[in-house]
Amino acid sequence: MPKHTTHNRLAWVDGELDQLQQGGLLRRLSTRLGPQAAQIGIEGQPLVSFGSNDYLGLAADRRLGEAVAAAVGTEGWGAGASPLLAGHAEAHRQLEARLAEFEANEASLLFGSGFAANSGSIAALVGPGDVVFADRKNHASLLDGCRLSRADTRVYPHNDVDRLDRLLARAGHYRRRLITTDSLFSMDGDRAPLVELAELAERHDAMLMVDEAHATGVFGKNGRGVAEMLGVEDRIDVRTGTLSKALGSIGGFVAGSRSLIEWLVNRARPYIFSTAMPAAAAAAAVAALDIVRDEPTRRTELLARAERTRRRLVEQGWNVGPSASQIIPIILGEPERAIRLSKQLYERGFYVPVIRPPTVPQGESCVRLSLTWAHSAKMIDRLIDALGQQ
Ligand code: PMP
Repeated sequence: MPKHTTHNRLAWVDGELDQLQQGGLLRRLSTRLGPQAAQIGIEGQPLVSFGSNDYLGLAADRRLGEAVAAAVGTEGWGAGASPLLAGHAEAHRQLEARLAEFEANEASLLFGSGFAANSGSIAALVGPGDVVFADRKNHASLLDGCRLSRADTRVYPHNDVDRLDRLLARAGHYRRRLITTDSLFSMDGDRAPLVELAELAERHDAMLMVDEAHATGVFGKNGRGVAEMLGVEDRIDVRTGTLSKALGSIGGFVAGSRSLIEWLVNRARPYIFSTAMPAAAAAAAVAALDIVRDEPTRRTELLARAERTRRRLVEQGWNVGPSASQIIPIILGEPERAIRLSKQLYERGFYVPVIRPPTVPQGESCVRLSLTWAHSAKMIDRLIDALGQQ
C-alpha cells in the first residue's frame, strides 16, 4: 500500500515528462561503450563523437591511466573523508601546488567538481547585503551559486559591458560586489570581454571571478586560458576551472591569493561537507598538466582546426553564432530542427549532441560540435561533407 500511495503522489511527474516529450525537450541517456575518444560506440553503433569536452584527447591517454594505477598502489582508491577530516592526501597537496604554479597564483583549492568549485565559491564570497552580477549565459553552476549565496543577483545581457557598467554604478551601497563570468561560454563557444570586465571591476570596486572551465589547457601561450591570452590574469581575483574537460580527469579548482583559499577552506560548503576526490584522480590531473606543458601543439593544432571548421561551416551557410573556439554550435532555432539534424548525422556515423532549452534560451536550439585534438582532419572533413548534404 505505501508504494501505491507514493506512486500517486508522484503522478504529476509523468504528466510533466509527457509535456517535455511533446515539446521535443525530453532528454534520455545513452550509454557509451569503451573509453572517451574521438571514435566511440553507442548502442552498438560506432560513431565519431563531437560530444565530449575532452579537448586535448587526454581522458583515455595511457599516461593518465598509469598515473592513476601508480597512485592507487600507494594511496588506495577512495578518499574516505572530506579534506578537513583526513581526506586530503599527498596527491591532492601536490596537485594544488601544481595548479597554483600553473595558474601563476599564490594558491589553489580542489573541489569534487567544477560545479562545486563555482557554486561553493560564490556562496562563500557574497551573502545577504551583497550583490552579484552574472552574465545571462553563465554556466548553471555560477548561476546556482548566485542563488545559493542569497546576495542580490543581477543578470546582465550576454557580454554587455555597458549594461553591466550601469548596473554597477547603481550598486555602490552594497557591502560587496562580485562579477562572475565564464571565460569561454560553453554553449556558444564565444569568449568574455575580460579586459573590459577587469576595468569595470577596478572602477566599481567589485571582485571579479572568472570560470575558465572550457579554456584551461586550450587558450593562452601556456594553456592557462582566456585570461592568459588577453593578459589580464593579475586583474582577476578568483579563477575557477575544472579538471574534467581538457585535463581529462575529474574535479574542480579555484586559484587565487593565499587568503582567498584559506577563506574557502573555512566557508565553501561543498568543500567542507563533501568527500575529497580520490587521490588517484588528482594524480591523473598532475600527469595532464605535464602534458599541457610539454605538448603545446595539442592546443595550437586544435584551435587551428576549429578555425578552419568554422570557416567551412559558414561557407556552407550554417549559423555558427559568435563561436571563436573549439566549441562550435550550429544554431537552428526550434528543438525539432536540431533533433532532426542530430539524428541525420547519427545515421551517418556522427555523434553530435542537441542542445535545447533550458540549457539555451527558447529559439536558440542547436547541435553543438566540440572539437578535440583527437579528431583527425579526415574525421572533420567527413562531418563537414555530411553537413553539406543536409
Ligand atoms: N563551468 C562550466 C562553464 C562548465 O561548462 C562546466 C561543466 N559543464 C562546469 C563549470 C562544471 O564542471 P564539472 O563538470 O567539473 O562539474
